[in-house]
Amino acid sequence: MATHIKFGRLFTGLKTQADKDQTVVVDGDKFVYVGPTASAPKTQPGDKSIDNTRYFGVPGMVDVHVHLTYGNAMCEEDIDLYAPIEFRALRGLINAQRLLAAGYTSMADPGGSNRVPLSIRNAINAGLFPGPRISCSGPYITSRQGLTDWYPTWFGAPKTSIGHLVTSMDEAIEEIRTQVKDGVDYLKIAMDGIQRGPDGDLLAAFNQDEISRMTEEAHRLGKRVITHARGRESTLCSARAGVDLIFHASWMDDECLEAIVKNKCAISPTLTLINHAITFLQPSDPGYGKERYALAMREWGPACENLPKAHKAGVPFMTGTDSGFSGTPYGEWHAKEMEIFVKFLGFTSGEALRSGTSVSAGFLNGGDKLGAFEKGRLADFIVFDGDPLAEIAQLLDKKRIKEVWQGGAPIEIKLPAMKRKGVSDFSYKMWNDMYTQKRVGELTTERRVRNIAAE
Ligand SMILES: [Zn+2]
Repeated sequence: MATHIKFGRLFTGLKTQADKDQTVVVDGDKFVYVGPTASAPKTQPGDKSIDNTRYFGVPGMVDVHVHLTYGNAMCEEDIDLYAPIEFRALRGLINAQRLLAAGYTSMADPGGSNRVPLSIRNAINAGLFPGPRISCSGPYITSRQGLTDWYPTWFGAPKTSIGHLVTSMDEAIEEIRTQVKDGVDYLKIAMDGIQRGPDGDLLAAFNQDEISRMTEEAHRLGKRVITHARGRESTLCSARAGVDLIFHASWMDDECLEAIVKNKCAISPTLTLINHAITFLQPSDPGYGKERYALAMREWGPACENLPKAHKAGVPFMTGTDSGFSGTPYGEWHAKEMEIFVKFLGFTSGEALRSGTSVSAGFLNGGDKLGAFEKGRLADFIVFDGDPLAEIAQLLDKKRIKEVWQGGAPIEIKLPAMKRKGVSDFSYKMWNDMYTQKRVGELTTERRVRNIAAE
């Protein structure tokens, strides 16, 4: 018993244009035919037919940068301390479902506390709950100078932290082997360290020899590596080590690009979070004047200048949003990254949508079976009312998403309304308000959202 679905237009995810009058045939959880309606196989007795000719078919989208344990965090302590691990798992599960409802049928969680992302992944894979297909790491591996070791040495990185502090290469290798034994899909390494002087570059948290050794060990065990690397030095060391995916790369230079191309690294700029810090943050937000707004402003210009060079050089770009912060709540802004690719990084909308589907799927476990309409791939897709190639930002509009299919069937998810105070707002010192689409809509009406002029 197969299901024959006709689409007016279909974006397969494998090229940058859409095709007219296409039919997909789904049998079980897979596509068995994708192609012109005129040459589609005939329906057999018992087959079902669906007429979506007024809709646009989009493959299930992929966000490679979602932190399920953060809980729409408003500060570092919110990420690490206030909620117990068990609560983070329950909260993370619902938040994963918000992605699925927004048309994101797959995602990567690169760094979270303890084994929470892994448990959410396993619970969904076991069929206990609906949710996106998840590939995940354990906690970030970090050094004394690295991102996620935020607190003074007399606290260190607590057990509930999103980071695992290593103080020697032996400890780093041991942590990699432990995470691999526990079943992570890849390793996440915090490569950005402290800043050299007030306006200086970021030092790398691990030196070249260290990141190369960690990458080599992860690869030897059959696992890929992601680094968080905004700075030039951390990007260069990551690229020379041959990591698989570099997050941010904002301050990359020609030397970095050469190593990225040579070692076939992919980049996920993850500009959504800093874009929101610039455009949404209000002067009333505690973090506005200090870290968040100023840091974002400092990074935005170099990122928009440097990253298009990597795109032109043919480096694969993957779409990530850093969802899980209060500036990037779950289920709200995942498609924003594709809009940023188009507005600021020189992508066509077809290139951006290919990045957000088949290219990003390439990083996931079993990714060659995801992210595209193709015979043999898993039937994950969106029935979309509109034309994302005319305007990529349409994908942010959840009303246009008529159906989300996963594994050959439409999914149905009822999302509860969140009681915000009970979810993440436990700290005294916050960065900013929670910027959901609804809240940003209100601010837009009040003309309180800033514009970044497209370069
Ligand atoms: Zn992140």
